[in-house]
Amino acid sequence: MRKCPICHKEMHEDAYLINKANFLNDLYIVRRDESFVKHEAPVEAALCPHCGHIELFYNPIKYHLN
Ligand SMILES: [Zn+2]
Repeated sequence: MRKCPICHKEMHEDAYLINKANFLNDLYIVRRDESFVKHEAPVEAALCPHCGHIELFYNPIKYHLN
């Protein structure tokens, strides 16, 4: 459970970002390792329904960017 850093209420973690002009593609975070190999993961979002704060994150259990 993710807590909002602004108002300390529980955040919804079932959100994600889309580009409405091209909503078929998810947004990805990409990291290159020391061998310049690209690792990528879809960007997920958490939002606070109380104050409107949003945070972006990736799922480190399903994807490895290190
Ligand atoms: Zn909040």
